[in-house]
Amino acid sequence: MSDAKPPPNERQETRRIDTGGPDYGEPTGPVGLFRARLRAFLENLKVEFFTMGVVIIYMLLIFADLMLADDPNVDSEADGKPWTNAFKYLDMVFLAVFTVELCIRVFAFGYFYFFAPLNVVDGLVVLVSFGLQAWVISLGEKTIGSEATTATNLLSIARVLRLVRLFVVMNKVQKARAAYKKTKYLKTGSPVERVIDLLGDMKGKVEDDEDIQDIQWIMDLIASDKLYTINIKNVVADVKDKDMAAFLSQEMNIKKDLDLDGETDAGDSEDMLEEVRGGLMRQQSSWAPGDLAQASVLEAQRISELATLLPHIERINQWDVDVFAFWEASENMGLVVGTYHLLEQHNLVSKFRLSKPRLMTFLTKMQDGYRNANPYHNVVHALDVLINMNYFLNQENLKRLMSPLDVLACLLAAAIHDFRHPGFNQNFLVATKHEYAITYSDQSVLESMHVASAWAILLTDECNFLTRLSKDQFSEFRSTMVQLVLATDMKYHFEHTSKFKTKLQSDGFQPGCNREDARFAMGLALHTADIANPAKPRQLSLAWTEMCMEEFFTQGDEEKRLGLPISPFYDRSKNSTAQCQMGFINVLVKPLYSEFCGLLGEPATTDCLAALQSNLDGWEQHGNGLLKQMETSFLGKGIVGPRAGNRSPVAPSPSPSMRKPPSKSS
Ligand SMILES: [Zn+2]
Repeated sequence: MSDAKPPPNERQETRRIDTGGPDYGEPTGPVGLFRARLRAFLENLKVEFFTMGVVIIYMLLIFADLMLADDPNVDSEADGKPWTNAFKYLDMVFLAVFTVELCIRVFAFGYFYFFAPLNVVDGLVVLVSFGLQAWVISLGEKTIGSEATTATNLLSIARVLRLVRLFVVMNKVQKARAAYKKTKYLKTGSPVERVIDLLGDMKGKVEDDEDIQDIQWIMDLIASDKLYTINIKNVVADVKDKDMAAFLSQEMNIKKDLDLDGETDAGDSEDMLEEVRGGLMRQQSSWAPGDLAQASVLEAQRISELATLLPHIERINQWDVDVFAFWEASENMGLVVGTYHLLEQHNLVSKFRLSKPRLMTFLTKMQDGYRNANPYHNVVHALDVLINMNYFLNQENLKRLMSPLDVLACLLAAAIHDFRHPGFNQNFLVATKHEYAITYSDQSVLESMHVASAWAILLTDECNFLTRLSKDQFSEFRSTMVQLVLATDMKYHFEHTSKFKTKLQSDGFQPGCNREDARFAMGLALHTADIANPAKPRQLSLAWTEMCMEEFFTQGDEEKRLGLPISPFYDRSKNSTAQCQMGFINVLVKPLYSEFCGLLGEPATTDCLAALQSNLDGWEQHGNGLLKQMETSFLGKGIVGPRAGNRSPVAPSPSPSMRKPPSKSS
């Protein structure tokens, strides 16, 4: 593109009608250039409309003549035929203008002009009418003899021709209306239509075949609306490690090519699946809000005071804060204390006049709703993600994109993002036809459930701490929070990472950027916070690895018992922890952190990427032996056990079919 090209907005104003016309080639010489400019001028929509206006006035004139010519009251002999004479000269003027226009068009477009049959008819009618009218006028006012007869005959032919011309004119008006509609559509339609249009223009101007193909590819891609869709099958195919590729396929929810006509082998396991469904449902129903202890106003005050007592509270903003120690020091109230403390720290409780007692009740119910029997997806994981999210929010480059309401949504989304996680992944829930899978139609089953059930509780009278938000604030807050939790679905990982990279490269995340981009950045932040374990200092990372693998193995045990295929890396007997971690870091975590830290800058880049690389090196050097470096194992230590004060455990013990003694993964 030449530098002189006006920006797309200005060019929009002088948009030409796309004639889909012939290729005139590169104009050569002064005449060629002049003809090219003339073509551009004639195709300009404003010129087209002007011509159309003249044609419409002429059309009205013809109508008037057709109607008045047969009226005996008009043009009486005594009046000296004033209308007939007036029309004769007016018609002559119009026809002269049209003849000149025709000549200009033929000069500009050459013989291509006559490729359209309508133009041929129109041209002939104009020329013949012009000739006839000139002839009639030259005969003058003679009303006797053969000349008078000729004049009458000529006028009759001219009338017929006018009817033909009327048909042509109406066709032209129709065409102009369509062209106008198209322009209007382009102006009010989505930007992608303008992009396609501009690319189409560009394609017509480049000469290199490869360039033309590239532009066509871009146009096809944009039109297909799959700009950010990663071909996960290709990504997975690139992963050399077979188990890792299978693991990714499962996590990214890639459908296998199913043998729909094949024999079913599910029959034997149906009874067992029924048992599992029953177990999971009992577990779910015993979480009914009515069973939960309510946080009183007094307790709310006690909790807010507790926060200041915590020795770890000052370190809550650090990337390397020991979340397990934090949890222990909080007397098993870490999620309530941590969330409340951060909301206060960001000055959100007073800013949005949140009801403190209700907020406390809500947070307590969220904390209690995490299934603490889960080795990994328990309340400490929620606290960890909350802390990570807060760390990201404190980085200036992300912070400046966000409003206080966004910060509120981000912190609460982090706190509830795995609410009521059953400790089994989506594939298992779908395979066992769990109620969650049925309720959410196998789509983002867990994420939908987490956010929907948290909101069901939030909106109860005892928990709704948002009553003082305006209607707009409420709907903005709610939709942001929902979008953030849904963004933690692993199936979006590659697509969102790629989209983020593209937007970052085009300076997409600047202060005042559009809401959609800001929300997208927040969603990616929560997903990044959710898979932060390998980017933490060695001891924390190892503890999380052990817990995560134990949850995988627990599901693997269940899959084995039910006769389901054991998910990749979920087989306890295979002991593939190091292999799983290396693949997880190399394929998923490292590419995401590299991009996301590109936005955050320092100190996040050093904090996260240094630890990530160190852990990757550790797994590569020591394999499964790296786990031996772990100083404290949290498996089976009751760190997430029932709270002090003789509260009954909120998460029920697993149903008999689910129970499994905790054991070390290696
Ligand atoms: Zn999570």
